[in-house]
Amino acid sequence: MRASTTGRVLHDPKGGSFRFDAGAVCLDFAHTGGEGRYAVFETLHEPADLGEWLAQPPLAAVMTIPVTTRELTAAKALRQAIWGAAHARAARRALPAGAVVTINRAAATAPLIPELAADGTTAGWAPPVRATQALSTLAREMIELLSGPLSGRIRECASDNCPLVFVDTSRPGARRWCAMERCGNRHKLRALRARQAMDL
Ligand SMILES: [Zn+2]
Repeated sequence: MRASTTGRVLHDPKGGSFRFDAGAVCLDFAHTGGEGRYAVFETLHEPADLGEWLAQPPLAAVMTIPVTTRELTAAKALRQAIWGAAHARAARRALPAGAVVTINRAAATAPLIPELAADGTTAGWAPPVRATQALSTLAREMIELLSGPLSGRIRECASDNCPLVFVDTSRPGARRWCAMERCGNRHKLRALRARQAMDL
């Protein structure tokens, strides 16, 4: 799961879409929907929706056991915990205690087990592949992120009204926007207009 292979296309309820790379699979997962005012962004409506998301790269965990309703509920709880923990870390606040418990609980079960193919050059996941294992893998990645060297690089998009969170994996560490094509360009346009207004 290299950082360069993360990222997903996010869809706006108003019809727009853009590519967003949160820098880590667990953070990409945190943007699959949410609670309250973020419920309009929900993409995981049915257990099968979770299976489809997990089957995409870079995780590429194709379920050999269908996702259950219980696993979907657990996935949404983990997603909310990752979202809450990421925002708390980005704001340099203490992590919500409940989020820590939920992430640890998900990580405590067996994760996906890597399996080398017979040709010795490719790898997949050893069957049976269950959603619970994939959730454990995501929770473990989040634990590494929060406790590792990139912990201070977890940020919220610098745009005033954009709650997207990412980990800046770039070498210079100067990433400010969720996506240049979205908030970055809006910011550049506003700055340009402000300069033009001053010139008048
Ligand atoms: Zn943004």
